[in-house]
Amino acid sequence: MLGAMQDHELRVSALLDHAALQHGGREIVSRYADGSETRTDWAGIRRDALKMTQALRRLGVGTGDRIATLAMNHSRHLVSWYGAVGVGGVLHTINPRLFDDQLEYIANHAEDRVLLYDAQFQPLIDRMKPLWTTIEQYICYDSDENAPDFETWIGAEDGNTEFATGSERDPCMLCYTSGTTGNPKGVLYEHRSTVLHAMAALQPSMFNMDTRGVLLPAVPMYHAASWSLPWSGAMVGAKIVYSQVNDAPVLCELMQREKVTHGAGVPTVWLAMFQHMDATGAALPDLKTVITGGSAAPRSMIERLMRMGVRVMHVWGMTEMSPIGTIACEPDNWDELSFDEQVTLKGLQGRTPYGVEIRCVDLDDPGKELPRDGVTSGALQTRGPWVIKRYFKADADAVGDDQWFDTGDVAVIHPDGTLQLTDRTKDVIKSGGEWISSVELENAAVGHPAVAEAAAIGIYHPKWDERPILVAVKKPGMEVSAEELKAFLAEKVAKWWLPDAVEFVTEIPHTGTGKISKKDLREQFKDYKLVG
Ligand code: ADP
Repeated sequence: MLGAMQDHELRVSALLDHAALQHGGREIVSRYADGSETRTDWAGIRRDALKMTQALRRLGVGTGDRIATLAMNHSRHLVSWYGAVGVGGVLHTINPRLFDDQLEYIANHAEDRVLLYDAQFQPLIDRMKPLWTTIEQYICYDSDENAPDFETWIGAEDGNTEFATGSERDPCMLCYTSGTTGNPKGVLYEHRSTVLHAMAALQPSMFNMDTRGVLLPAVPMYHAASWSLPWSGAMVGAKIVYSQVNDAPVLCELMQREKVTHGAGVPTVWLAMFQHMDATGAALPDLKTVITGGSAAPRSMIERLMRMGVRVMHVWGMTEMSPIGTIACEPDNWDELSFDEQVTLKGLQGRTPYGVEIRCVDLDDPGKELPRDGVTSGALQTRGPWVIKRYFKADADAVGDDQWFDTGDVAVIHPDGTLQLTDRTKDVIKSGGEWISSVELENAAVGHPAVAEAAAIGIYHPKWDERPILVAVKKPGMEVSAEELKAFLAEKVAKWWLPDAVEFVTEIPHTGTGKISKKDLREQFKDYKLVG
């Protein structure tokens, strides 16, 4: 027997219909890199998204087609999120900080048909165009020099249409994560998973957003579905303030002027903000909530924000989780805790909202679930309606009945359900919210004629959370200095990937199967200090 309620598919386009109808006049402010600003509102975003839907249909783009963006934060980008899904397509937000070979791979793998981009990425587009095999149409957001410009493109339409309808299980968005070894992997979100996730994000114990909220997402729109803010913001009709540049002075001025109540960004954003505030004496009296995640929030950052009267919402998440997994929300006895205890609690990764389940299993025996005793650490797994089942284009038959997703993080779970990350099994280093592949660093290093073996590990850094160091063994009778090795690497990897230090050792620890034991190496270097 089925229940007797209406058939109603959960579709993200309906979020915008709702925002325009219920909160149509609520502003969306955009500040562009050249200092210019635009103001529109949720009704305007819907009008433009409908026009974009028509413009896409004119190009023959429709159901299931991938529409990519390569852009920073602004309202035209927001229009494109809803325009792409509005035509029944799949929005693919590309991270412009990826390397050329990754950019080549993901746009071709995604089979993007249209790419909308910021003029500042024109050099990247010129480089990549000959390598991208599926993109038929390029649209530039803020210039008409090399491609049709966005405003003219959608300006030719009247907006007199409706968003596409369909199943709530249809895909709506594709995000690639490079936080894995090998090629980046695509995560294909559904309308249903996205709507449920956005609803969860709004809760008082999560982002605590409502119509009076003024939100400044410093998290880029290409990073992990922008933490759902373009969707959840519409759900409550929050005012959104976007900045195309992520500089502390610009963000600070916007936050003051627009009376921003909710800020969202990785820890490095807030650390840069503090520096600016210290240098100028600027204050943020309206800021009530800071949402931070992507890497562990440093204690000093949490403490400072709390002393400013800000509620810190420290999130652990992953692109594979839409991205919210857990959040350090206040427990029932919060008011009885000392300030120090409160800061400590906010530094942990927190508890799951309804919709996410977590468990830790034995690192060597995944069949064995570990107790939630606050001491036993193991491989962290998760499941729920907005957690990935398989990567885009991965073999559907390879997915078993067991839906638990392996996060690649190592953690303990406390008896009250609080998650505490302790390590990582995936071989990547996260610096300032962006991934560095340790494997690629190591491969580059062993290319040096004097290096026998090399291992890269992440070391705690006060500003970037983690920075790589390279541990290397020299070949017998051969010589190379740390500086020489760094100079050698500088020709092979991006500058920000270069290890902060190179340490030579006589031996690197190995596992029983002969692989480098990162666990033992990290243990060996656990007291290693980087300054900066
Ligand atoms: P995002 O950067 O949005 O979190 P990614 O998929 O790029 O998404 O990265 C996910 C990984 O980042 C996690 O598996 C974990 O290793 C790390 N991470 C995310 N949030 C935190 C956090 N609050 N504390 C520690 N590590 C985190």
